[in-house]
Amino acid sequence: MNFIEHLENDPQYAGLNVNKGIAQPPVINPYLTERKKRYIYTPAEYTEEIRKGNITVLSQAVTLLESQKQEHQAVAQEVIEKCLPFSGNSVRIGITGVPGAGKSTSIDAFGMHLIHHRNRKLAVLAIDPSSERSKGSILGDKTRMEELSRNAKAFIRPSPAAGSLGGVARKTRETIILCEAAGFDTIFVETVGVGQSETAVHSMVDFFLLIQLAGTGDELQGIKRGIMEMADGIIVNKADGNNIEKAQLAAAQYRNALHLFPLPPSNWMPKVMTYSGYYQLGISEIWDMVDEYMAFTCKNGYFEQRRNSQAKYWMYESINEQLKNHFYQSPVIEKELQVKEMQVLRSEISSFAAAKQMLDIYFKDRK
Ligand code: GDP
Repeated sequence: MNFIEHLENDPQYAGLNVNKGIAQPPVINPYLTERKKRYIYTPAEYTEEIRKGNITVLSQAVTLLESQKQEHQAVAQEVIEKCLPFSGNSVRIGITGVPGAGKSTSIDAFGMHLIHHRNRKLAVLAIDPSSERSKGSILGDKTRMEELSRNAKAFIRPSPAAGSLGGVARKTRETIILCEAAGFDTIFVETVGVGQSETAVHSMVDFFLLIQLAGTGDELQGIKRGIMEMADGIIVNKADGNNIEKAQLAAAQYRNALHLFPLPPSNWMPKVMTYSGYYQLGISEIWDMVDEYMAFTCKNGYFEQRRNSQAKYWMYESINEQLKNHFYQSPVIEKELQVKEMQVLRSEISSFAAAKQMLDIYFKDRK
């Protein structure tokens, strides 16, 4: 018997042999690197794909636009610039109503009507400034629009959760540009009927649609006045079953209330209609009204005038927002702000003097 033959009897044997083994799979999951790759398009490539109507790339561009990261923002802004010449060719419609008014049911029904009967492509966006608090917006949530979310001619995007209403609204406005460049000819911007967000939506749409309910007692409430004045159309939902009469009565009351307001600058007398989103009754009439409004305002020049004044408004909004961010994010201000705040709270200094001192510090730092 030859002892050497046995591996362990070999004088060279070190006891702990390291086998060569098989080739190991990569440590990084290839699917994860795939995911990472989504941000490596150049702005020109993003634009090209968006222009082809590539929904996946459109979504990714919107995600970049919503990102807080500087490098994402830089790419997103370039994509927006490049898409701008291809934007504008759509009807932008704001849709508002209190929770439970039937916004999602209606948008689902409107969307399917527009796609099937009017050969349109629809993007549904949302503005919900409360979404940061509630950790994700329910507005624009795909599960709320069952039919539409499965349709290839529809693009649904929930509200960006970006904090301030101004920030959220700006992002939605920029998303409109990308959607239009991707060939969506109808844009819905949804919001809840509870206050300031309506004004933001109003500042980016051509037609403002207010969904109301019968019998909620707010037909004549002063609170709704501001919102009613912004509306180009008021539609009373749930006009079905034994609710039809009540809905018609509410519509008549809205019509009367509207007559008390002066004619809006568009010269368009807002219309009031009843419908049922759930049973899909009266939907076609609503879109006849929107088409009529478009033809009317294109002819009298108001459409262009409104878009121009919105563009101007957004330029100033954008300047204001960036100035404000720059001020609050500059290190000297961040440090000093807390000190000044304490002094104001302890009544050691007036609010105005504190503000002036802060601004002096800021401008001195800029020199
Ligand atoms: P949202 O909160 O404004 O989005 O309202 P939803 O679309 O979620 O609707 C609220 C509730 O009203 C749901 O239970 C719907 O089924 C119901 N609803 C919506 N539209 C109609 C309608 O046209 N008729 C009836 N009877 N119910 C409706």
